[in-house]
Amino acid sequence: KGAVRFENVEFAYDPKRPILKGVSFEVPAGKTVAIVGPSGAGKSTLSRLLFRFYDIQSGSITIDGQDIRDVTQDSLRSSIGMVPQDTVLFNDTIAYNIRYGRISATEAEMRNAAELAQIGPFIETLPEGYEAMVGERGLKLSGGEKQRVAIARTLLKAPPILILDEATSALDSATEHEIQSALDLVSRNRTTLVIAHRLSTIIGADDIIVLKDGVIAERGTHAKLLAKQ
Ligand code: ADP
Ligand code: ADP
Repeated sequence: KGAVRFENVEFAYDPKRPILKGVSFEVPAGKTVAIVGPSGAGKSTLSRLLFRFYDIQSGSITIDGQDIRDVTQDSLRSSIGMVPQDTVLFNDTIAYNIRYGRISATEAEMRNAAELAQIGPFIETLPEGYEAMVGERGLKLSGGEKQRVAIARTLLKAPPILILDEATSALDSATEHEIQSALDLVSRNRTTLVIAHRLSTIIGADDIIVLKDGVIAERGTHAKLLAKQ
């Protein structure tokens, strides 16, 4: 479940300046496809289009064969999870931030997601545990800790489709390595679109798409694309 297909997608924020000029690709259910390309190529725009934040001008985007224009935005939001580059947390408790999107989750489910995201041991050292406040008047979490909260949230929500938009870009390389292993766990057996700006780092992807000037300039496996460089 969760096969994503872009078919001849054309999109422009400003009609005089096309961003995507006929982009077609598929992310088979449960597979991981990476989109790489220079800054400004339109990578993040692809993920906004999948959420239907904007309507495309031509072509189609489907999930399991269903055109997303026929799907409510609420339904899209519940079937797609996203880990962005910089997670902004709510000024509320850690538990609230992990539960966001699945408020009905039990305490045990919430803790289990935190354990899997490798944040559990850290939270349990806090006097207030999961009820500790974060944000302005609470705990100040590091970039890596915030990403772990985002990962725990995504694990709890368990969406069929996942978007990782430069999810480790803002981290130092040691932290990036740790977060990457947590991300690998979340993306396993889940339809995943990874947005990155470097080819050298997306080793796990089943397919890599290089987006340039609004079109797919190249695609293939990691080995194939590296061999060409
Ligand atoms: P990437 O993720 O590959 O860096 P983006 O998808 O963020 O690229 O942006 C692609 C292009 O669209 C850029 O030129 C950017 O300036 C432009 N753009 C992005 N968001 C908007 C917006 N909301 N309104 C107008 N132009 C935008
Ligand atoms: P390099 O080692 O080539 O200097 P980095 O390791 O800093 O590059 O990573 C390059 C970019 O690719 C970063 O933005 C990184 O977050 C991104 N990236 C690589 N793999 C993934 C992934 N699976 N999910 C999210 N982002 C990824």
